[in-house]
Amino acid sequence: MISEGLLIVISGPAGTGKGTVVKELVKDDSFRLSISATTRAPRGTEQDGVEYHFLSREKFEEMIAENGFYEYAEYVGNYYGSPKKPVEEWTKEGKNVILEIEVQGCQKMKAVRPDCISIFIKPPSMEELEKRLRGRGTETEEVIRKRMSRAQEELLLADSYDYVVVNDTVERCAGEIMDIISGLKS
Ligand code: ADP
Ligand code: 5GP
Repeated sequence: MISEGLLIVISGPAGTGKGTVVKELVKDDSFRLSISATTRAPRGTEQDGVEYHFLSREKFEEMIAENGFYEYAEYVGNYYGSPKKPVEEWTKEGKNVILEIEVQGCQKMKAVRPDCISIFIKPPSMEELEKRLRGRGTETEEVIRKRMSRAQEELLLADSYDYVVVNDTVERCAGEIMDIISGLKS
């Protein structure tokens, strides 16, 4: 008999390296990344079904009415939500499913799925966070400043997570998350 996979919610400030660490985790076949739905337009090379499921506002609202999301939020004029169906299917198959969402979404997830494991990814320091945000080269100076000030607020919430993991190196950080998950499953 296959034992059910775990539901893992990962958050942390923008630029801390969540996306990079998650990419490392999903190289292991026991993990799957939940793809969120959004009503915002694809950016650059983003493809439907890869980075997001890009939906019209009507379709998104239909899914809300059908209770298709664990949680959803409106962020800068667009909806973002975590679809239930793939998560339920994958966890039944024994896969550990990762949701990479912002801190408010994580708090909502804890309310609807109290069994989920919440992990906060912290930068080694604020200086390093700023360096990573700048190094990514996708944000303007104003956005970097806004994200840095938002990061200070988000870091205060770290203690409310089940686990806090520092992203010093990607391999070590992903390894620590793997160890946490294997410890919970044994
Ligand atoms: P997030 O998803 O949290 O916004 P990203 O995964 O996009 O962050 O990472 C932000 C930047 O930091 C990227 O340029 C990425 O290559 C870099 N980065 C991620 N993890 C590390 C690390 N452990 N050490 C150095 N740079 C990192
Ligand atoms: P972006 O438009 O930059 O891809 O994402 C904007 C914000 O929406 C990010 O903070 C991202 O983490 C968040 N987000 C992405 N998917 C979801 C989701 O399913 N639920 C919630 N609550 N936030 C999400």
